Amino acid sequence: MVLACEAESYGLPEAQFRRVENFGKPKEVGQAMQFSRRQVLAGLAATGLLALSARAEDFLSIDAHNHVDVPLDGTAGPNLDLRGELDRAGLTAICMTFAVDYQPIREPAQGYQRFLHGLDAMDAQLARNEMTRALQAADLRAEKLTVIQSIEGAHFLEGKLERMEEAYGRGLRHFGLLHDHDATPPLGDVFTNPEAFGGLTQLGAGAVRECNRLGMLLDMSHGSDKAVRDALKISTRPLIVSHTGLNTRLGSNPKMARMMLPRLIRAELAREVARAGGVIGVWTHLADSADEYAANVRAMVEVVGVDHVCIGTDSKLTPPPDGSDRGRTNSGWAGGGFYFVVAAALRKAGFSPAEIAKIGGLNYRRVFAAATA
Ligand SMILES: [Zn+2]
Repeated sequence: MVLACEAESYGLPEAQFRRVENFGKPKEVGQAMQFSRRQVLAGLAATGLLALSARAEDFLSIDAHNHVDVPLDGTAGPNLDLRGELDRAGLTAICMTFAVDYQPIREPAQGYQRFLHGLDAMDAQLARNEMTRALQAADLRAEKLTVIQSIEGAHFLEGKLERMEEAYGRGLRHFGLLHDHDATPPLGDVFTNPEAFGGLTQLGAGAVRECNRLGMLLDMSHGSDKAVRDALKISTRPLIVSHTGLNTRLGSNPKMARMMLPRLIRAELAREVARAGGVIGVWTHLADSADEYAANVRAMVEVVGVDHVCIGTDSKLTPPPDGSDRGRTNSGWAGGGFYFVVAAALRKAGFSPAEIAKIGGLNYRRVFAAATA
């Protein structure tokens, strides 16, 4: 009873309390509601996670890079259970990302068309789930499930920077400038291609300025070191590198490590991003367990400090079109919904509840606030 009283005194709203109830529960438990609040709270106290509820906002949990696959050809696509998957994951919000260069762009305006179709499809999924996009930092609250509309690669610009204002009007707030393929005209060097532009192009630099002017968070993932440094020089606001890892954390599979190495950030560059007030998202690749993931987060924290690290899984919250479970946010590591497992692993790795709250969501919200204010 003492535990229940403690929880009630935190004054968490009912919806949020349901999320708290799921915290740290093993898989079997998380799937049913037959456990009483008291039993759940006892379980929470045992994991040490109950202390997190000192402030409701500490339950904010955000994945800074998550892919929701929607059709980009104007067709409707399947109904996605965004709300249910967020709840299962224990996440308050994801950066709901899509890219228009998965398939080669062969015709003029194709990137733009795919972009508009993607936004239309996401509008429909959000309406179906009775959800809205977060447009400002005040929309990122622990008790509200939401998404941050994100694009990975600004191929839709096709040289027209004025399209950024249109994108802003459609709710885009997290702007990934670069992706795997060069845009036409190009925006800057990508880390997996040979250097061709000496960092950002004039157009890429213009897009950085537009992000600042409009109030969109600039994501420099996929940029070469020089491209990231150019963006840091130009940008008047902090930026994010939403999905990477430290280049000394290579995991256990040498083949995978070779493939991923160009995508990993060096300590020196990570520090430059942090010094500018930015945040680095640690992805779940190269970690075979939640404990390994926690160790990768720890390594990044040791380099940039606990105020500059967030979660950026690069996974898929909802099923991809082939219906497979591969790369799904909630099916990676055994033991329950994604963030419940990660928070418990971070705790086990020695992070305090306040530090977990920063890594889990508050750091992202801070940089989002600085970029969108
Ligand atoms: Zn990516």
